[in-house]
Amino acid sequence: MSDVPKTHPRYLSLSLRDTIVAGVQQGITSIHGLIAHGRGEAFDYLIGEQTQPFATEAIHAASAMLCLADHPVISVNGNVTAVVPDGLVELGRVLNAPLEVNIFHTETGREKRIREYLLKHGAPDVLMPTTEVQLSYIDSNRKFVHPDGIFKADVVFVPLEDGDRCEALRKMGKEVVTIDLNPMSRTAKQASITIVDNVVRALPLLCEESRSIRTSTAQDILKKYNNEAVLQKALQHISRSGNG
Ligand code: ATP
Repeated sequence: MSDVPKTHPRYLSLSLRDTIVAGVQQGITSIHGLIAHGRGEAFDYLIGEQTQPFATEAIHAASAMLCLADHPVISVNGNVTAVVPDGLVELGRVLNAPLEVNIFHTETGREKRIREYLLKHGAPDVLMPTTEVQLSYIDSNRKFVHPDGIFKADVVFVPLEDGDRCEALRKMGKEVVTIDLNPMSRTAKQASITIVDNVVRALPLLCEESRSIRTSTAQDILKKYNNEAVLQKALQHISRSGNG
């Protein structure tokens, strides 16, 4: 796919860029998704392209919240589907949670292509937006949801989320778990739990944690967790990295 040699010091980042470009070419990712990816790359560079302790702390809390949920749902868009399809399917299996397509730019057929791609990667089913039920507090196309999915969820996992919908979900009383490399995004600030890490590194760790966590430990972890403090740690890490 690419002629970047494996010995290149930033091979992983560059091959991920190829994956997202392939997502656009396959009609899964929106062309706007390239911009969101670029913003993520910049923050990944600043955090050192590694899972940092503030992300590990949030991953513990995220697995706790998702495992304690009555009806967890995994919301998927074109970017996450392109870069971590297997991870999404695996997390759905571990949590026994449905995947639901929810995107901003609904170019013809993209929602259906995302669904088909995830089915090809082993998802037992993928819920689609409907006009039967809508989210409140949001005007875009992302308000259309599935009655058995995001609409009735108590905890929604929304990696690489747009701030508007995160806010709407929170106003509706739902807990939101996100993965977002930018600790200053509106999503990062409004989510219940924000994992500041690249989704390609964080999702396998989240699956692993969710497989092994126990209910009693989960309650304890959640009681002690403070998302604002975790975001502060991420910001401090970024400002220190600028000082060499
Ligand atoms: P907000 O509306 O929440 O302020 P935004 O307008 O930046 O955020 P988008 O353009 O939808 O929202 O971008 C999605 C977010 O996903 C960005 O904050 C970006 O840093 C982050 N992001 C992009 N790629 C990745 C990735 N691979 N892993 C984790 N986060 C990512």
